[in-house]
Amino acid sequence: MADNRAGFLADLPTDLYIDGKWVPAADGGRFDVLDPATGDLLVSVADGSVTDAGHAVDAAAAAAGEWAATAPRVRGEILRRAFELMTAQAEDLARLISLENGKALPDARGEVAYAAEFFRWYGEEAVRTTGTAVTAPSGANKILVLHQPVGICVLVTPWNFPAAMATRKIGPALAAGCTVVLKPASDTPLTALAMARILEAAGVPPGVVNVLPARRSGQVVSSMLHDPRVRKLSFTGSTEVGRTLLREAADMVVNTSMELGGNAPFIVFADADLEAALDGAMIAKMRNAGEACTAANRFYVESSVADEFSRRLAARLEALVVGPGTQESTQVGPLVNEESATKVADLVRSALDEGAQIITGGSRPDRMGFYFEPTVLVNVHPDAAILSEEIFGPVAPIVTFETEAEAIRQANGTEYGLVAYVYTRDLARGLRVSEALESGMVGLNRGLVSDPAAPFGGVKQSGIGREGGHSGVLDYLEPKYIAVQW
Ligand code: NAD
Repeated sequence: MADNRAGFLADLPTDLYIDGKWVPAADGGRFDVLDPATGDLLVSVADGSVTDAGHAVDAAAAAAGEWAATAPRVRGEILRRAFELMTAQAEDLARLISLENGKALPDARGEVAYAAEFFRWYGEEAVRTTGTAVTAPSGANKILVLHQPVGICVLVTPWNFPAAMATRKIGPALAAGCTVVLKPASDTPLTALAMARILEAAGVPPGVVNVLPARRSGQVVSSMLHDPRVRKLSFTGSTEVGRTLLREAADMVVNTSMELGGNAPFIVFADADLEAALDGAMIAKMRNAGEACTAANRFYVESSVADEFSRRLAARLEALVVGPGTQESTQVGPLVNEESATKVADLVRSALDEGAQIITGGSRPDRMGFYFEPTVLVNVHPDAAILSEEIFGPVAPIVTFETEAEAIRQANGTEYGLVAYVYTRDLARGLRVSEALESGMVGLNRGLVSDPAAPFGGVKQSGIGREGGHSGVLDYLEPKYIAVQW
C-alpha cells in the first residue's frame, strides 16, 4: 500500500462496526482523523452516538448466549485465525498505525507483532480456563467452582498502542466467552476498524465484537456503563480519565479493570554494565517516541557514573533520525497531536526555569507536524513537574543519587506504580531493589517488560487488575461456587 496512500485510505472501513455490519452514526456525525506528521486530514470516521452505543450493546447482548456456549476450542481457533490474519497483514497494519499515530515504522511493526501475539496466546488459553472441586473442611459437601463469562464488556483504549491495547482486551474477553463493545481513541480509530475486519474474516460471529469510534467519549461510555446489561469495563488510558470511569462504574457496580498512567523510574547503579543500561534506556525511553505508559520518565543515576551515562545517552539520542513515521529511515516520529507536543515543550521549559540544563535537544524542530527533539536534561530539580507527570515524549530528565536507599525513596515518590527499571551487575541488589520498588512490573537489566505471556499492570494509581499471562483471562470470568452433595 505504501506507494499509494490515497488508494489505501479509500479501502479502509470508516463506519461503525455493529452486529457484523458497517453502519454510519445514527445522527450522521463524523469526525476527522489527522496525520500527525503534517496535521493534514487523513479521513473522516463515523462518530458513534449514545443511540449507536445502545445498538452496539443490543448486538453484544443478542450474541452473548451463543458465544458463551460456543466450544472453547472453537473460540480458540477463531482467535488463532485472527493471529494468522494479523501476521499476514502485518506490514499494512504497521503502516496504518504509523499513519494515524505517527510512530516510526519499526515501532509500528513491533506493535503489530506484539498485538497479534495476544490473539495467539488467548487462543491457546481459551481451552485452559480451570475450575476446582474440593471437599469442604467440614466434610459435609463438595465445593465446586466454575468460571463463567463475566458478561458484556465495554473496552476503552488509548491512541498510543491502537492495535495492542485492543487485542490485549479482545483476546482474553473472547477466550472467556464474553461479547464486547470496543471504543477506540478518537486520534486512532482506523486501526481498531481494521481489526474488526480481521476478526470478522477470522470467523467472529456478528455482535461478538462491536467497534464504536466516538468523539463524544464521555457520554457514549457513560451511557453503556449505565446499561444494566453491561457487566464489565476494561479501560486503558490516563489515570485522570480512569478515576472518572471508576466513579461512573460505581453506579451500576460494574466490574472494572484499569490500566492507567505510569511514571517509570530508570535506576542505574554505578556497578551496572553501562552499555547495556544505555541500550535499555533507548528502548524504555525512545520506543514510540516516549509515548508509552511504560516509558522511562525519570532517570536516577548513581553520581559517580552520571556524567558518563548522560553524555553517552545524549550522543545516542542526537544520532536518531526524526521524521514522518511512515518514512522508512525514521527512528523517531512526531507526537500524536498538537496538545501532546505543547505539553512536552511546557514541561521542558518549566524544568529549565527550575535550573535544569539541556545537553541535547530541548525544543520543537522548525517543521510541520507535532515533533519534539530527542532531549536529555541534567541537574533536574527533584520537585520539577517533569519528574511527577507523564512526559509522553522523547525527553530524558536525569537526577543523581548517592545511596541505594535514596534511589528507592526517589523512585517510589510518586502516586504511580506501573513499571520500574533497574540496572546493576549485582543480582542480589537487583532483586532487593526490585522487591522494594512500588510497581506492578520491574525490568531488571532490561528496558522492555511487555510480554503477552506475563501479567501486565500497575499498583497505586497506575491501575487495578492485570492483562496478559494466565491471569489475564480471569479478569473476564466470574467464579461460580456450587455447594454440592453427592
Ligand atoms: P485518555 O485517558 O485521554 O483516553 C483513553 C481513552 O478514554 C480514549 O479512548 C478516550 O477517547 C477515552 N476517554 C477520554 N475521556 C473519557 C471519558 N470522560 N469517558 C470515557 N472515555 C473517555 O488517554 P490517552 O491520551 O488516549 O492515552 C494515554 C494514557 O494512557 C497515558 O496516561 C498512558 O500512560 C496510558 N496508558 C496506559 C497503559 C497501561 O497499560 N497501563 C497502556 C497505554 C497507555
